[in-house]
Amino acid sequence: MDLGIKGRSAIVCGASRGLGRACAESLAREGVQVLMAARRPDVLEKAAEEIRARTGAVIRTAAVDVTTPQGRAMLLSMLPDPDILVTNAGGPPPGDFRDWDRDAWIRALDANMLTPIELIKATVDQMISRKFGRIVNITSGAVKAPIDVLGLSNGARAGLTGFVAGLARKTVRHNVTINNLLPGPFDTDRIAAVLGGQAKAEGITLEQAKARRIADNPAGRFGDPSEFGDACAWICSAQAGYMTGQNILLDGGAFPGVL
Ligand code: NAD
Repeated sequence: MDLGIKGRSAIVCGASRGLGRACAESLAREGVQVLMAARRPDVLEKAAEEIRARTGAVIRTAAVDVTTPQGRAMLLSMLPDPDILVTNAGGPPPGDFRDWDRDAWIRALDANMLTPIELIKATVDQMISRKFGRIVNITSGAVKAPIDVLGLSNGARAGLTGFVAGLARKTVRHNVTINNLLPGPFDTDRIAAVLGGQAKAEGITLEQAKARRIADNPAGRFGDPSEFGDACAWICSAQAGYMTGQNILLDGGAFPGVL
Protein backbone atom coordinates (compact mmCIF):
# COMPACT_ATOMS: atom_id res chain seq x y z
CA MET A 1 0.00 0.00 0.00
CA ASP A 2 1.42 3.36 -1.04
CA LEU A 3 0.81 5.68 1.92
CA GLY A 4 0.76 8.73 -0.33
CA ILE A 5 3.21 10.81 1.71
CA LYS A 6 6.30 10.69 -0.50
CA GLY A 7 7.96 14.11 -0.49
CA ARG A 8 6.18 15.26 2.68
CA SER A 9 8.24 16.66 5.56
CA ALA A 10 8.21 15.50 9.17
CA ILE A 11 9.56 16.42 12.56
CA VAL A 12 10.06 13.36 14.76
CA CYS A 13 10.99 14.03 18.39
CA GLY A 14 12.90 11.66 20.64
CA ALA A 15 14.16 10.05 17.45
CA SER A 16 17.63 8.76 18.30
CA ARG A 17 16.41 5.56 19.97
CA GLY A 18 13.42 3.37 20.59
CA LEU A 19 9.95 4.21 19.34
CA GLY A 20 10.75 7.69 17.99
CA ARG A 21 13.59 6.31 15.94
CA ALA A 22 11.33 3.59 14.57
CA CYS A 23 8.74 6.21 13.54
CA ALA A 24 11.48 8.20 11.77
CA GLU A 25 12.61 5.11 9.88
CA SER A 26 9.12 4.05 8.81
CA LEU A 27 8.34 7.56 7.55
CA ALA A 28 11.69 7.72 5.75
CA ARG A 29 10.91 4.44 4.02
CA GLU A 30 7.76 6.09 2.65
CA GLY A 31 9.87 8.86 1.12
CA VAL A 32 9.18 11.45 3.82
CA GLN A 33 11.97 13.97 4.49
CA VAL A 34 12.54 13.63 8.22
CA LEU A 35 14.04 16.03 10.75
CA MET A 36 15.05 13.85 13.70
CA ALA A 37 15.35 15.52 17.12
CA ALA A 38 17.04 14.21 20.26
CA ARG A 39 19.51 15.55 22.78
CA ARG A 40 22.76 13.67 22.13
CA PRO A 41 24.30 14.63 18.77
CA ASP A 42 26.50 11.52 18.49
CA VAL A 43 23.70 8.99 19.09
CA LEU A 44 21.31 11.00 16.93
CA GLU A 45 23.67 11.33 13.97
CA LYS A 46 24.50 7.62 14.12
CA ALA A 47 20.79 6.76 14.00
CA ALA A 48 20.23 9.21 11.15
CA GLU A 49 23.11 7.74 9.17
CA GLU A 50 21.72 4.23 9.55
CA ILE A 51 18.28 5.36 8.37
CA ARG A 52 19.76 7.24 5.40
CA ALA A 53 21.70 4.12 4.42
CA ARG A 54 18.64 1.86 4.70
CA THR A 55 16.04 4.14 3.06
CA GLY A 56 17.92 6.64 0.90
CA ALA A 57 15.68 9.35 2.37
CA VAL A 58 16.66 12.93 3.13
CA ILE A 59 17.26 12.98 6.88
CA ARG A 60 18.37 15.98 8.93
CA THR A 61 19.09 16.09 12.64
CA ALA A 62 18.50 18.63 15.40
CA ALA A 63 20.43 17.98 18.61
CA VAL A 64 18.01 19.71 20.98
CA ASP A 65 16.13 19.14 24.21
CA VAL A 66 12.54 19.44 22.99
CA THR A 67 11.29 20.12 26.51
CA THR A 68 12.97 23.55 26.58
CA PRO A 69 11.73 26.68 24.74
CA GLN A 70 15.22 27.15 23.25
CA GLY A 71 15.30 23.56 21.99
CA ARG A 72 11.89 23.87 20.37
CA ALA A 73 12.82 27.23 18.82
CA MET A 74 15.94 25.73 17.25
CA LEU A 75 14.01 22.71 16.00
CA LEU A 76 11.27 24.83 14.44
CA SER A 77 13.80 27.20 12.88
CA MET A 78 15.09 24.21 10.91
CA LEU A 79 11.60 23.16 9.77
CA PRO A 80 8.89 25.69 10.67
CA ASP A 81 6.13 24.11 8.57
CA PRO A 82 6.24 20.30 8.78
CA ASP A 83 3.46 18.25 7.16
CA ILE A 84 3.87 15.63 9.88
CA LEU A 85 4.71 16.04 13.57
CA VAL A 86 5.52 13.14 15.88
CA THR A 87 5.82 14.32 19.47
CA ASN A 88 7.82 12.24 21.91
CA ALA A 89 10.23 12.58 24.81
CA GLY A 90 11.51 10.27 27.47
CA GLY A 91 8.95 9.18 30.03
CA PRO A 92 9.16 10.39 33.64
CA PRO A 93 10.96 8.16 36.16
CA PRO A 94 8.99 5.51 38.05
CA GLY A 95 8.65 5.88 41.81
CA ASP A 96 6.41 6.49 44.81
CA PHE A 97 4.18 9.57 44.69
CA ARG A 98 5.24 10.45 48.25
CA ASP A 99 8.71 11.25 46.90
CA TRP A 100 7.56 13.59 44.10
CA ASP A 101 7.69 17.29 44.86
CA ARG A 102 6.33 20.13 42.75
CA ASP A 103 9.50 20.26 40.63
CA ALA A 104 9.17 16.58 39.73
CA TRP A 105 5.57 17.18 38.62
CA ILE A 106 6.50 20.27 36.61
CA ARG A 107 9.26 18.32 34.81
CA ALA A 108 6.79 15.56 33.92
CA LEU A 109 4.15 18.05 32.76
CA ASP A 110 6.75 19.92 30.71
CA ALA A 111 8.03 16.81 28.97
CA ASN A 112 4.86 14.81 28.43
CA MET A 113 2.06 17.38 28.25
CA LEU A 114 3.19 20.96 27.62
CA THR A 115 5.97 20.19 25.09
CA PRO A 116 3.63 18.35 22.69
CA ILE A 117 1.04 21.12 23.12
CA GLU A 118 3.64 23.82 22.33
CA LEU A 119 4.81 21.95 19.23
CA ILE A 120 1.22 21.47 18.05
CA LYS A 121 0.52 25.16 18.66
CA ALA A 122 3.56 26.14 16.57
CA THR A 123 2.68 23.94 13.57
CA VAL A 124 -1.04 23.23 13.36
CA ASP A 125 -2.23 26.48 11.79
CA GLN A 126 0.17 26.11 8.87
CA MET A 127 -1.03 22.54 8.38
CA ILE A 128 -4.60 23.83 8.33
CA SER A 129 -3.78 26.46 5.73
CA ARG A 130 -2.11 23.82 3.51
CA LYS A 131 -5.01 21.36 4.01
CA PHE A 132 -2.75 18.53 5.09
CA GLY A 133 -1.34 17.66 8.48
CA ARG A 134 -0.77 14.57 10.57
CA ILE A 135 0.13 14.86 14.24
CA VAL A 136 0.92 11.75 16.26
CA ASN A 137 1.68 11.97 19.96
CA ILE A 138 3.52 9.02 21.46
CA THR A 139 1.87 8.61 24.85
CA SER A 140 1.46 5.32 26.73
CA GLY A 141 -0.81 2.37 27.32
CA ALA A 142 -0.81 3.69 30.89
CA VAL A 143 -3.28 6.35 29.73
CA LYS A 144 -5.92 3.59 29.50
CA ALA A 145 -4.60 1.32 32.25
CA PRO A 146 -2.50 3.36 34.68
CA ILE A 147 0.61 1.69 36.13
CA ASP A 148 1.06 2.55 39.80
CA VAL A 149 4.79 3.34 39.77
CA LEU A 150 4.32 5.60 36.73
CA GLY A 151 2.11 8.16 38.45
CA LEU A 152 3.97 11.11 36.88
CA SER A 153 3.40 9.66 33.44
CA ASN A 154 -0.23 8.72 34.14
CA GLY A 155 -1.02 12.26 35.24
CA ALA A 156 0.86 14.24 32.57
CA ARG A 157 -0.27 12.10 29.66
CA ALA A 158 -3.89 12.19 30.78
CA GLY A 159 -3.67 15.99 30.51
CA LEU A 160 -2.34 15.80 26.95
CA THR A 161 -4.98 13.25 26.01
CA GLY A 162 -7.78 15.51 27.21
CA PHE A 163 -6.38 18.49 25.32
CA VAL A 164 -5.98 16.54 22.07
CA ALA A 165 -9.53 15.18 22.30
CA GLY A 166 -10.87 18.71 21.96
CA LEU A 167 -8.49 20.12 19.34
CA ALA A 168 -8.55 17.06 17.06
CA ARG A 169 -12.23 17.70 16.28
CA LYS A 170 -11.45 21.26 15.19
CA THR A 171 -8.67 20.42 12.73
CA VAL A 172 -9.97 17.35 10.89
CA ARG A 173 -12.24 19.46 8.64
CA HIS A 174 -8.98 20.80 7.15
CA ASN A 175 -7.44 17.35 6.65
CA VAL A 176 -5.30 17.80 9.75
CA THR A 177 -5.59 14.86 12.13
CA ILE A 178 -4.26 14.54 15.67
CA ASN A 179 -4.04 11.11 17.23
CA ASN A 180 -2.23 9.48 20.11
CA LEU A 181 -0.34 6.22 19.74
CA LEU A 182 -0.22 4.29 23.02
CA PRO A 183 2.63 1.81 23.42
CA GLY A 184 2.29 -1.17 25.69
CA PRO A 185 5.57 -2.97 26.42
CA PHE A 186 8.07 -2.47 23.57
CA ASP A 187 11.61 -3.70 23.56
CA THR A 188 13.46 -0.40 24.09
CA ASP A 189 15.80 1.15 26.67
CA ARG A 190 12.79 2.74 28.34
CA ILE A 191 11.12 -0.53 29.31
CA ALA A 192 14.33 -1.74 30.92
CA ALA A 193 14.32 1.41 33.09
CA VAL A 194 10.67 1.00 34.07
CA LEU A 195 11.03 -2.69 34.88
CA GLY A 196 14.17 -1.87 36.86
CA GLY A 197 12.07 0.45 39.05
CA GLN A 198 9.41 -2.22 39.56
CA ALA A 199 12.02 -4.88 40.33
CA LYS A 200 13.63 -2.64 42.94
CA ALA A 201 10.29 -1.84 44.57
CA GLU A 202 9.40 -5.54 44.80
CA GLY A 203 12.85 -6.89 45.67
CA ILE A 204 13.10 -9.06 42.55
CA THR A 205 15.66 -9.08 39.72
CA LEU A 206 15.26 -7.22 36.45
CA GLU A 207 15.20 -10.56 34.61
CA GLN A 208 12.35 -11.78 36.82
CA ALA A 209 10.38 -8.57 36.25
CA LYS A 210 10.94 -8.86 32.50
CA ALA A 211 9.96 -12.55 32.33
CA ARG A 212 6.78 -11.85 34.31
CA ARG A 213 5.78 -8.97 32.05
CA ILE A 214 6.34 -11.07 28.94
CA ALA A 215 4.40 -14.00 30.40
CA ASP A 216 1.51 -11.67 31.30
CA ASN A 217 1.21 -10.35 27.74
CA PRO A 218 -1.25 -12.21 25.48
CA ALA A 219 1.30 -11.98 22.64
CA GLY A 220 3.92 -13.65 24.85
CA ARG A 221 6.54 -11.08 23.87
CA PHE A 222 7.40 -7.40 23.85
CA GLY A 223 6.56 -5.35 20.80
CA ASP A 224 9.20 -4.68 18.17
CA PRO A 225 9.75 -0.93 17.69
CA SER A 226 9.38 -1.39 13.92
CA GLU A 227 5.76 -2.49 14.50
CA PHE A 228 5.19 0.81 16.26
CA GLY A 229 6.94 2.83 13.54
CA ASP A 230 4.84 1.27 10.79
CA ALA A 231 1.61 1.99 12.68
CA CYS A 232 2.75 5.60 13.04
CA ALA A 233 3.47 5.84 9.31
CA TRP A 234 -0.02 4.58 8.49
CA ILE A 235 -1.62 7.16 10.81
CA CYS A 236 0.40 9.77 8.87
CA SER A 237 -0.78 8.43 5.52
CA ALA A 238 -2.91 10.26 2.99
CA GLN A 239 -5.56 7.56 3.50
CA ALA A 240 -5.94 8.19 7.25
CA GLY A 241 -7.63 11.60 7.01
CA TYR A 242 -10.92 10.39 8.55
CA MET A 243 -9.34 9.26 11.82
CA THR A 244 -8.72 11.89 14.46
CA GLY A 245 -8.78 12.24 18.24
CA GLN A 246 -8.14 8.53 18.69
CA ASN A 247 -6.05 6.75 21.30
CA ILE A 248 -4.62 3.76 19.51
CA LEU A 249 -3.25 1.04 21.72
CA LEU A 250 -0.40 -1.19 20.53
CA ASP A 251 0.10 -3.61 23.41
CA GLY A 252 -0.19 -7.20 22.20
CA GLY A 253 -3.69 -7.33 23.69
CA ALA A 254 -2.57 -6.56 27.25
CA PHE A 255 -5.46 -4.15 27.91
CA PRO A 256 -8.37 -6.49 28.67
CA GLY A 257 -11.29 -4.18 27.88
CA VAL A 258 -13.60 -4.24 24.86
CA LEU A 259 -13.31 -0.50 24.12
P1 NAD B 1 13.65 5.43 24.90
O1 NAD B 1 14.15 5.87 26.22
O2 NAD B 1 14.13 4.17 24.33
O3 NAD B 1 13.90 6.59 23.82
C1 NAD B 1 13.51 7.92 24.09
C2 NAD B 1 14.05 8.82 23.01
O4 NAD B 1 13.68 10.16 23.32
C3 NAD B 1 15.56 8.82 22.89
O5 NAD B 1 15.91 9.05 21.54
C4 NAD B 1 15.96 10.01 23.75
O6 NAD B 1 17.21 10.53 23.38
C5 NAD B 1 14.85 10.97 23.38
N1 NAD B 1 14.60 12.01 24.37
C6 NAD B 1 14.34 11.84 25.68
N2 NAD B 1 14.14 13.04 26.26
C7 NAD B 1 14.30 13.97 25.29
C8 NAD B 1 14.23 15.38 25.27
N3 NAD B 1 13.98 16.07 26.38
N4 NAD B 1 14.45 16.04 24.10
C9 NAD B 1 14.72 15.34 22.97
N5 NAD B 1 14.79 14.00 22.92
C10 NAD B 1 14.58 13.33 24.07
O7 NAD B 1 12.06 5.42 25.07
P2 NAD B 1 10.96 4.65 24.18
O8 NAD B 1 10.79 3.28 24.71
O9 NAD B 1 11.24 4.85 22.75
O10 NAD B 1 9.65 5.42 24.62
C11 NAD B 1 9.18 6.58 23.96
C12 NAD B 1 8.01 7.12 24.77
O11 NAD B 1 7.03 6.09 24.88
C13 NAD B 1 8.43 7.50 26.18
O12 NAD B 1 7.73 8.66 26.57
C14 NAD B 1 7.99 6.31 27.01
O13 NAD B 1 7.70 6.65 28.32
C15 NAD B 1 6.75 5.87 26.24
N6 NAD B 1 6.43 4.46 26.49
C16 NAD B 1 7.30 3.48 26.14
C17 NAD B 1 6.96 2.16 26.42
C18 NAD B 1 7.89 1.03 26.06
O14 NAD B 1 7.60 -0.11 26.38
N7 NAD B 1 8.99 1.24 25.40
C19 NAD B 1 5.75 1.84 27.02
C20 NAD B 1 4.88 2.86 27.34
C21 NAD B 1 5.24 4.19 27.10
